[in-house]
Amino acid sequence: MNRAGVFAAALLLAVVAVDAGHAQSSKPGVEKLYILNCGEGVAGDISRWSPGVNEGKSMDFVDTCYLIKHAQGWFLWDTGIPDAVAAMPNGQAPADPKAIYWRRPKTLAAQLDQLGVKPSDIKAMAVSHTHPDHIGNVEMFPAAMLYVQKAEYEWPGPNNAPRFKPEHPVTKLEGDRDVFGDGSMTILSTPGHTPGHQSLLVKLPKTGAVVLSGDAAHFKDNWDNRRVPSINFNKEQTLASMQKLSEILSKEKAQLWINHDKAQRDSLKMSPEFYD
Ligand SMILES: [Zn+2]
Repeated sequence: MNRAGVFAAALLLAVVAVDAGHAQSSKPGVEKLYILNCGEGVAGDISRWSPGVNEGKSMDFVDTCYLIKHAQGWFLWDTGIPDAVAAMPNGQAPADPKAIYWRRPKTLAAQLDQLGVKPSDIKAMAVSHTHPDHIGNVEMFPAAMLYVQKAEYEWPGPNNAPRFKPEHPVTKLEGDRDVFGDGSMTILSTPGHTPGHQSLLVKLPKTGAVVLSGDAAHFKDNWDNRRVPSINFNKEQTLASMQKLSEILSKEKAQLWINHDKAQRDSLKMSPEFYD
């Protein structure tokens, strides 16, 4: 082979190598996302979430879980109020009448079953934070790796109880985390509502980027007006987290899906339909 021939062959090899690299990076990471009904309720007084605004008004709330199918396995984001509430004829009344009266029209177990997903199929999970309406079914998945911020994990619970069973497998995070290392699912540290509150950026192949914001805001009106509930752990952190999310939403051209916003959830497809 002459010099030009060697050069052409090398160039061809380089092109093939670049192309192979490209094919690898465009392999699907997140394949689809299901929105699950993890509770429905009525808030006694929504000014609990918007101090000074809408005092004494009640409002319907929803509680949402998200099941994500990634090439490396099933991942569950938030677990809702306990499935046991489904068996309570009148639902679960709150200690404070201004808080949320929860019902569970469908169990998480039944919704997984409908999709043919066994609890043991879920290899990894994360919760936005440790309030009871988000961690109610964590122990349905005792072997699933739990991704949680260290600040949340170590936050003493009522009567100093631990937030999770010490034997539950856990990865304690200190900040953002690209869960599968392919950029398709990134946990975002968004403290304020609680010390280690987190959100999730998911990149779906057709739908595009979506941010699951947990309780960074409870409904769209509070998000739009940057209102901070009086029950939040830290007001400045809450506002900073909303700012962080807002920058990510612009940068990623992402949709914002708010866990408890009923009007928004009613506009979205629920499982067994899905987003891909
Ligand atoms: Zn909540």
